[in-house]
Amino acid sequence: MTERERHGAGGVQRLQFLRDGVAPVTYSPRYTPNFAALGIKHPSQVRAPTRIHAAFIAAMRAAGVSDFATLEPEPLRDDEIALVHAPGVIDDLASADAIARVLSIPAFRAMSVAALQQHIVSAQRSCGGGTRLGVRLALERGWAINLKGGLHHAKHEKGEGFCFFSDVAIAHGLINRSQRLRDTLIIDLDAHQGNGAALMLGDRADVRLMDVFNRDIYPRDETAARRVKYCYPLSAGTGDDEYLRCVTHGLLRAFAAGRPDLVIYIAGTDIVAGDPLGKLAVSVGGLYERDRLVWGACVTNGVPILMCLAGGYSPRAGEIAGQAAAACVLRHTDAHDDRK
Ligand SMILES: [Zn+2]
Repeated sequence: MTERERHGAGGVQRLQFLRDGVAPVTYSPRYTPNFAALGIKHPSQVRAPTRIHAAFIAAMRAAGVSDFATLEPEPLRDDEIALVHAPGVIDDLASADAIARVLSIPAFRAMSVAALQQHIVSAQRSCGGGTRLGVRLALERGWAINLKGGLHHAKHEKGEGFCFFSDVAIAHGLINRSQRLRDTLIIDLDAHQGNGAALMLGDRADVRLMDVFNRDIYPRDETAARRVKYCYPLSAGTGDDEYLRCVTHGLLRAFAAGRPDLVIYIAGTDIVAGDPLGKLAVSVGGLYERDRLVWGACVTNGVPILMCLAGGYSPRAGEIAGQAAAACVLRHTDAHDDRK
């Protein structure tokens, strides 16, 4: 690694953007569930991964960075899901009732399970595959972004809250089969409490969790909160100052306690004011500052980071998430420096 690669043009430490023309960004057109094929109009289309991807590519292009490829992951297989989940979770992927329950769409109960698997479940398998691949890429390259993922409500024995399984727990389990990680820090800054991830991973000696969330919305899980080492429950309507104070405090504590081998950052954009589910009042500028704090802590300490784009439910959520991800790449990698 040359001095320039290490420090970039401005003397700030920078990560390598490209290797063989490929950026460590995982995405597939298969991430987006196809509700239309089932005759259902669903509000999630505005935050669909296709929108996140389009906004990400557009923001990179606007900054003069267009000559790069992203990586399309293989979907998660049953045996990979079964590594950390109870068998019932796999059975539920073949049950229209269970799929309807996890997604809170009662109409799905009457539909063919084959169609639900093809158009809905397969999308989460692909997103989860992006997290699995993203962990490997982050460890190899110092950073990675999955343009979705962060399915943090699924529990060991059942899916819930739009999440059929825990992509983070699965990816963590899979990487530890080949490469033993001593300390993984999961930083969950989605507006919702990451109850499933906390219940599945919070008791492990090789995992630490930080969670800053709105305590006034789903899932309000106190058992899960007790398993989170750096836990910051906030009230609905919390704005930039208090939110960023908690993020800063949590990062300071987490990194002071030790340098993790890997950070998995669940970066929901549903903290932004106006999000109908998140119900916090953070500005878009506050969101960018949050991402800067997390990436800054990782880059400064030389810790690999995987960012998963997680939740966001406003009409602008896809656009905001894609642009915020591009801002992280442009700030912390040498994508710009390579421009002639
Ligand atoms: Zn959320």
